Amino acid sequence: MSEPSAVVTTRGAERISGGHLWIYRSDVRSFQAEPGDLVRVSDERGRLVGRAFWSDRSQIALRFLTRRDEAVDREFFAQRIRAAAAFRQRVVEDTDSYRLVYGEADLLPSLIVDRYGDLLVIQTLSQGTEKRKGEIVEILKEQFSPRGILERNDPKARLLEGMQQTVSVLHGEVPEEAFANMNGVRFRLDLRKGQKTGVFLDQRENYRAAAQYLRGEVLDCFSYHGGFALHAARQAQSVEAVDSSGEALALARANVDLNGTTNITFREANVFDVLKEYDQGGRRFDAVILDPPAFAKSRTALDAALRGYKEINLRALRLLRPGGVLVTCSCSYHVSEALFGEMLWEASVDVGQPLRVLERRGASRDHPMLLTVPETLYLKCMIMMRMGA
Ligand code: SAH
Repeated sequence: MSEPSAVVTTRGAERISGGHLWIYRSDVRSFQAEPGDLVRVSDERGRLVGRAFWSDRSQIALRFLTRRDEAVDREFFAQRIRAAAAFRQRVVEDTDSYRLVYGEADLLPSLIVDRYGDLLVIQTLSQGTEKRKGEIVEILKEQFSPRGILERNDPKARLLEGMQQTVSVLHGEVPEEAFANMNGVRFRLDLRKGQKTGVFLDQRENYRAAAQYLRGEVLDCFSYHGGFALHAARQAQSVEAVDSSGEALALARANVDLNGTTNITFREANVFDVLKEYDQGGRRFDAVILDPPAFAKSRTALDAALRGYKEINLRALRLLRPGGVLVTCSCSYHVSEALFGEMLWEASVDVGQPLRVLERRGASRDHPMLLTVPETLYLKCMIMMRMGA
């Protein structure tokens, strides 16, 4: 049987030589492959472009694993996963939970593996990784001997691949209740239903960085399970955590009990309303944290998203006492670092007080970015101090 294959346009081939890992369907000239096959990709003159996963559904038709003429077999995947784990050994500290494999950034497109102690949670987000799921589980068992492996294959992206959304145990046992320890703070996890694969591992280093500056009275907006609030509570006098989801706050309360924290209060409300109320009522804080969900889910939603970000940032700045600290995040990929910075610039001009930039941050280092795949850069986190009297 001959190797499955695809021929791509010059533009497609140039995208790969330019460092991206994807070729869109519009740049595929012809193919001979089944869904999820590993294909040998060549340009129209027959030159090898590399080997990639083929998808017969997604607009992303090809996801590249290599540009070299090498076998992409079990050992290839085992090697990539070993390299991903070795990198985490160098950058991960003070946690038992982190991202072990981050898809494209580990040159393993559409594969996510998160580690929570002795449990692994995986996502196979394209036909290619889905087809090799059994093999990937075997490799993970060999290299990490986990107690259990769960597939959290419920992201909507799976539908674009013509695949079902599913959550199931692939190996061993995965308890209903699991725990994570990040920076000495304990979190209860619902691995089957929690956001992403359980918690926001990408904010782990930002929790720690922000905590250094959080004192006095702190307002944690969009608190979810209390990631920032619990870190702040260790130095702050008091923390108010706001989220519109009662379910999220129940999880946050459980974490408060788990850590024996006594200085966090909760409020189930819309952050936009709370900020307005406090602003108009003259309530002031020593620090405000803003970690909203992605306001811009698509490029067309960008303007409305920027207005939303500006509104909450402007109000948060008004709530700060002189010397107060704003920790502000955006996880919208479509809002670039530059746009986010401009929005903050405008908010600071409107509030009429200079802002000192304390730290410009992104996702934790276990969520590295691949320079030539801008889609891997999504999280921005700025820590700033309100100057002036
Ligand atoms: N800071 C959290 C993650 C926030 S996720 C952490 O580090 O764990 C975003 C949260 O915002 C979700 O819990 C969601 O329920 C909440 N949310 C979304 N829109 C909101 C709104 N308008 N007001 C209050 N909370 C909101």
